[in-house]
Amino acid sequence: MKKLENYITGRWITGDGDGQQLLDAVTGQAIYAASTKGVDFASVLDYGRSVGNPALRKLTFHERGRMLRALAQYLMARKEEFYRISYHTGATRADSWIDIEGGIGNLFANASLRRKFPDLPYCTDGDPIGLSKGGSFMGHHLLVPKEGVAVHINAYNFPVWGMLEKCAVNWLAGVPAVVKPASITSYLTEAVVKAIVESGILPKGALQLLCGSACDMLEHVTAQDVVTFTGSKSTGLMLKGQKRILEESIPFNMEADSLNCIVLGKDVVPGTPEWDLFIKEVRKEITVKAGQKCTAIRRIFAPENVIEDVYIALDKALAQTPIGNPAHEKVRMGALASLGQREEVRNNVQKLLATSQLVYGSLDSVEVLEADARKGAFLSPLLLLNDSPFKSEDVHDIECFGPVSTLMPYGDINEAIQLAKKGKGSLCCSIVTADNRMATDFVVGAATHHGRILVLNQECAKESTGHGSPLPLLVHGGPGRAGGGEEMGGTRGVKHYMQRVAIQGSPTTITAITQSYQAGAQGSDPGQHPFRKYYEDLRVGDQIVTEKRIIRSEDIDAFAELSGDHFYAHKVDTDFSGTMFEKQVAHGYFIMSAAAGLFVDGSELGPVLLNYGIDELRFTKPVYPGAELTIRFTCKEKVPQDQKEENDIPKGIVKWLVEMLDETGEHVGVATILTMVKRRQS
Ligand code: NDP
Repeated sequence: MKKLENYITGRWITGDGDGQQLLDAVTGQAIYAASTKGVDFASVLDYGRSVGNPALRKLTFHERGRMLRALAQYLMARKEEFYRISYHTGATRADSWIDIEGGIGNLFANASLRRKFPDLPYCTDGDPIGLSKGGSFMGHHLLVPKEGVAVHINAYNFPVWGMLEKCAVNWLAGVPAVVKPASITSYLTEAVVKAIVESGILPKGALQLLCGSACDMLEHVTAQDVVTFTGSKSTGLMLKGQKRILEESIPFNMEADSLNCIVLGKDVVPGTPEWDLFIKEVRKEITVKAGQKCTAIRRIFAPENVIEDVYIALDKALAQTPIGNPAHEKVRMGALASLGQREEVRNNVQKLLATSQLVYGSLDSVEVLEADARKGAFLSPLLLLNDSPFKSEDVHDIECFGPVSTLMPYGDINEAIQLAKKGKGSLCCSIVTADNRMATDFVVGAATHHGRILVLNQECAKESTGHGSPLPLLVHGGPGRAGGGEEMGGTRGVKHYMQRVAIQGSPTTITAITQSYQAGAQGSDPGQHPFRKYYEDLRVGDQIVTEKRIIRSEDIDAFAELSGDHFYAHKVDTDFSGTMFEKQVAHGYFIMSAAAGLFVDGSELGPVLLNYGIDELRFTKPVYPGAELTIRFTCKEKVPQDQKEENDIPKGIVKWLVEMLDETGEHVGVATILTMVKRRQS
């Protein structure tokens, strides 16, 4: 039997002893052994901090993002090997798609997120904050990568996604990872890590893997590390409460048992499209991954007058799910990950049966295709019915981590909200309704207790990603018993691996630190018009002050004619009493256009390729005929762009601060405009 290897301190090593036997979920045969015995956990974490961390933190977000993209492409090309191994976990090909391609998808999504960050190893957070009347003192928030490692203790149900959804984020943040997958399915994680190491794409120390027990690892974490945990509430609480975690104030992100629910809106009755959507969604959530998803629907709430129709329709739908060897082409539901897990699910269902009745499936028998139901961890889908959900606590408390869900009646929408909240905090919930008033009441009422809420109806169903899919750009996690954690969520997730520090100083100093021009900072002489400079040659703070232009009443009339904007404030003969203005006022867009007329230099070919748009535009003071307009034009920020095709023009985006000033030196408008600027080289 092959012993899995641990990838630590830059080497593959096997642990001591025989290790824990890992069984094929379908055949029950021992296929691997896992051991971390003899591993020096302190040195593993040290290696991550001293070798992986410096290598990652010195890269810019854009470099890290491109690294993630290359890794995603590398793994995608090898996905068939992972699918083959994944069958041993009991997962069908469709189940494995969520795990394997869903995991790789997280690498792609985070790679693209680089564009939301500067081309620096660190970034700002939020808006600048003025702290003085004279404008010489200000504040900002800066985020720098933590100097530690991200320690991920993962669950058995997503051996690939569980690793990649987290690592993609910590790598983008500039922090290395130590991954400890749940032992029983760690052979699949090992295969993916082997491919990652082979690829040579990540810097040394960016990833270490432990297949087997975590032993005393958490006794060696320090204040610069971050620990994440996905698994059972009991283990999570035990780890979160460890002295070391508390003493060192180590961020501990926990995602534990979650009693997710779905609500059938009161407007939905049999025969409507939403009814079919509801039945389909519930069936999917019970059977996909054999219900072993942290987001799977455990509680179903339906209006009391349609309860019978719901379970009849669900019985029919569940009966159409062939179960068996996940490699068989007809099979739609495979096995649970282990016989132990099946036992745990059965025990928990028994507890629920004290107050609920079984309306579909059997705890003891299941018909399977091309498999042995005694040897493999197979279980029939189970639908329970509980008539008095306000009186029963277990149904809102016991997570049966398998193909199990309980149907319950509710009266009005407030009752549905109260029942949804009885889960004491869940990762996600759904409501199926075509009534947006009801959707609003439900979402606003139930939001405090959920990490994510899906409103499903005919309008979005075709493209909906479904109840059970956490998405890289949306937060994943839930309050209360779901662990109180939050992962992913686009740029939000990246910040969990960074230290936020408030910085104070002059605008010029803050510009130097952030590499983003702050209003009021000293500008620098670009030596020539900045539109004549290539991307590489431009410096943040390059600044020019333009000639003056006098705004005349005839110009305003002409702009009104040209644009068709004849708003009364721009007409010379308007009676202005009771309005915001004293007399004819220039169109804001005319001032912006006149500004462009002053700051643009480009009558001959030059490095500026095109005007890319306006990020922000404010008109701060009315401009009346006779005003003298001047523009202070400053290079604010530079954002690199990749060359997609070999013969694409190499270029970057340059953001410019356009300060529109009148003859008193006051701002009449301010804008951030974007141009595409040629690079000298690719
Ligand atoms: P566990 O909580 O036992 O394990 C989760 C992870 O924690 C595994 O990697 C496990 O490693 C590790 N772990 C266990 N004990 C320790 C420890 N003392 N120190 C450090 N790490 C430790 O959950 P299981 O995977 O066994 O699943 C049990 C139940 O948890 C399921 O039946 C289900 O109810 C729930 N669960 C909930 C999930 C959710 O997201 N809501 C996801 C998965 C499970 P090892 O495998 O080596 O023991």
